[in-house]
Amino acid sequence: MTSEVTRGPINLVVLGPPGAGKGTQAVEFARRHGIPKISTGDILRDAAQSETDLGQRAKVTMDAGGLVDDKLMIAIVRERLTRRDAERGFVLDGFPRTVAQAIALDELMTDQGPLTVVDIAVPDDALVERLARRRVCGQCGNATSVAAGESRNRCEKCGGELVLRSDDTESTVRERLRVYAEATKPLVGYYSSRPTFRAVDGQQSPAAVWAALNNAVDEMRATPSAADCGSERTVG
Ligand code: ADP
Ligand code: ZN
Repeated sequence: MTSEVTRGPINLVVLGPPGAGKGTQAVEFARRHGIPKISTGDILRDAAQSETDLGQRAKVTMDAGGLVDDKLMIAIVRERLTRRDAERGFVLDGFPRTVAQAIALDELMTDQGPLTVVDIAVPDDALVERLARRRVCGQCGNATSVAAGESRNRCEKCGGELVLRSDDTESTVRERLRVYAEATKPLVGYYSSRPTFRAVDGQQSPAAVWAALNNAVDEMRATPSAADCGSERTVG
């Protein structure tokens, strides 16, 4: 058994630019550890499917490549983290995306043990191409990458139709990368001095990223300084 069973909840934040593969890694990590994956992009896309005013406004913002405002995002995540299933830990994908969101998350964590933060680093020039190749299943949401000229259009998992996400068009992708550089990249600096921060190379196969991510998490959880800041409290 690995050190995953040693102590406390795993409160994992997966950072990285759009197209880094955060979602894929987060799904797998959550499944392995039996903890919820909380993706603010998924929450907003669900809301955008509805006719509500909030959902429709979120859709306009997302399709333009912008960010939904901090107050709303913080309220959504605060509510989600108080649900029972997040008591044993969680994986956050797509949040925080601004320094204000990161500060709010730290405040939410005061009673919940430390955050473990992994940045999946991918250089800019690789991202435009990756996002152009990304397709998502309209039925189950599974993301996949199609090679140039490939005509595959069915999901491997459920047979649903593969579609281009409405914000993966070229002009929106450029705006999302600009917004990432301006608002989200500073989070690496915000977290990087913590003993519970690691960066992994995202320019490798998904399996290699998965191995690096797990090594990073195991290593951080074995670090005494990480255990000292609250995760080893005895409960009851
Ligand atoms: P990506 O695949 O680019 O990582 P996501 O699925 O995480 O994208 O998010 C899609 C869109 O949803 C973002 O471009 C943004 O408009 C909105 N969004 C998601 N999370 C947040 C957040 N924490 N703060 C503000 N906007 C968000
Ligand atoms: Zn599918």
